[in-house]
Amino acid sequence: MEGECIFCQIIQKKSPANIVYEDEEVVAFWDIHPSAPVHLLIVPKKHLGSLNEVKEADQLLLGKLLLVAKTLAVAHKMDRSGFRLVINTGPWAGQIVNHLHLHLMGGG
Ligand code: AMP
Ligand code: ZN
Repeated sequence: MEGECIFCQIIQKKSPANIVYEDEEVVAFWDIHPSAPVHLLIVPKKHLGSLNEVKEADQLLLGKLLLVAKTLAVAHKMDRSGFRLVINTGPWAGQIVNHLHLHLMGGG
């Protein structure tokens, strides 16, 4: 499943993406079908299928994702105008990519 995961492929640079941020644990890139002028996806490098799979050991990583979101919101001048963070989880939410990710959306 990880081998077929599109976000794992992006993390491994086997698939292209417009990457705006990367460190040892997290990568962020533009959503290919943006629903806002700025629409970035913030993704842990560790494959976690969704928020349903996170454990206590992932606590620091989850905090890191929020900090990266805040940094990117500032970098894209959305901190004052405002922005939205979304984590779709499971079928009810319409989750399509089964690798945990945060949508960061705003007006830019
Ligand atoms: P969801 O799983 O519902 O949170 O949505 C997954 C998001 O990933 C959608 O907004 C897609 O447009 C986006 N997406 C899917 N494949 C790619 C890709 N290869 N590069 C960038 N964004 C993608
Ligand atoms: Zn994955």
